[in-house]
Amino acid sequence: MESKTVRTRFAPSPTGYMHIGNLRTALFTYLLAKKQGGVFILRIEDTDQGRYVEGAVDVIYKTLRRAGLQWDEGPDIGGPVGPYVQSERMGMFKEYALQLVESGHAYYCFCDKDRLEEMRKIQQASGMPTRYDGHCRNLSKEEVAEKLAAGIPYVIRQKCPTEGTTTFHDEVFGDITVNNADLDDQILIKADGMPTYNFANVVDDHTMGITHVIRGNEYLSSTPKYNLLYEAFGWEIPTYIHVSPVMKNATEKLAKRNGDASFEDLSAKGFLDEAIVNYIALLGWAPKGENEVFTMEELMQEFDVSGISKSPAIFDPAKLRAINGAYIRKLSPEKFLEFALPYIRESCKREDIDLPLLATLLQPRTEVFNEIPEQVDFIDALPDYDIALYTHKKMKTNSEVALDSLKALLPVLEGVEEWSAEKIHEAVFALIEKMEVKNGVVLWPLRVAVSGKQFTPGGGIELSEIIGKEETLARIRKGIEKLEA
Ligand code: GLU
Repeated sequence: MESKTVRTRFAPSPTGYMHIGNLRTALFTYLLAKKQGGVFILRIEDTDQGRYVEGAVDVIYKTLRRAGLQWDEGPDIGGPVGPYVQSERMGMFKEYALQLVESGHAYYCFCDKDRLEEMRKIQQASGMPTRYDGHCRNLSKEEVAEKLAAGIPYVIRQKCPTEGTTTFHDEVFGDITVNNADLDDQILIKADGMPTYNFANVVDDHTMGITHVIRGNEYLSSTPKYNLLYEAFGWEIPTYIHVSPVMKNATEKLAKRNGDASFEDLSAKGFLDEAIVNYIALLGWAPKGENEVFTMEELMQEFDVSGISKSPAIFDPAKLRAINGAYIRKLSPEKFLEFALPYIRESCKREDIDLPLLATLLQPRTEVFNEIPEQVDFIDALPDYDIALYTHKKMKTNSEVALDSLKALLPVLEGVEEWSAEKIHEAVFALIEKMEVKNGVVLWPLRVAVSGKQFTPGGGIELSEIIGKEETLARIRKGIEKLEA
């Protein structure tokens, strides 16, 4: 069998917002195409939109580009099967619908709002599923011609079979069979002559030569109707891959209002683009091996539809953090500093700080950049800390021990001429040896005195080097003062 080039499409509606779930669909769609040397198409589905959202298409472009998902055909770059914006494809849909009317797979429906409303009420009252009752299904050609001539508004509906079953295959959900009697005669062309999404997606996917359709599983229940349309036209049905939603937890969706559901939200929180993409790939997809950190190239190799799960993916912030941390540790020191600098500067304004040195302390300890301001907030000014911090069981210190240590440290550090971690280290360890105490007895009080904090990016010696000699001595004196008070 001749193998066809894989052609996939990402078909977002321009809402002005790229939900993580949508981006995940885009990523899977991209990976599926790229893995097989195929073509990834961007199609903007702007027909069902209530109102135009300013700049919405740009949000799609920008997010996909930042995520590294470059499309091969799309509205801005064109391609052989354009236009790639649905509203610009309007002309063709009506003709296709009329073909279906001709072949008996669709029909004109002249029911007005009131009648449909009435029908719905009755169905609801009797506990029946609300769907079109087929009132216009069997109008004669003459009746239709008459109504058209009279200018009565109409829609075109799909004529679904009323008996038998329709079975289709989904790569994730397997074979699904539905009773045709349960299928609604959905609208294909609206009263204004525009297609519904339900019709446009079939015509667009076919005319664009799409071989694999990846989309949210909310479309699963409509797929049998799409397939009946493909069959009515005699078109080849694409391979379906429906993916489950990304959830916040077992019951709640990830919602825009929580500020953690879009690529931009996560980026603003200090996650790296590559790490976000890597993490998103793991939402509802499991690689074969243990490794979960992948470059885009590696993802292309690893990605396999068989790893997509039927169950909803739960957004796991801890895992995202861990993956981001792994990416941060892989950055070169220069790159790390470049990313970290704005965050450092949020709380540390001192100009005389050795930033590369500070960065080497921060890099192994940072999982998300937005933690940095809190890590370095002691540099400009010593926080007003509680002397209870000096008590540390494991370090074998308490206020009295700490006071002795700081008093002993002060002259020793005053005597350090070249203020480097190495020299400070030598001096401090000479003192520890002389005092015949455990390291922590001196190191813990030093750390508390210079930082005023329990958790710091590094130990007392490193922090002393960062803040400088004068400041270190001043803070030790301050510590002594506090402990003596
Ligand atoms: N425009 C649809 C959406 O944003 C796309 C559905 C599809 O991929 O077919 O949900």
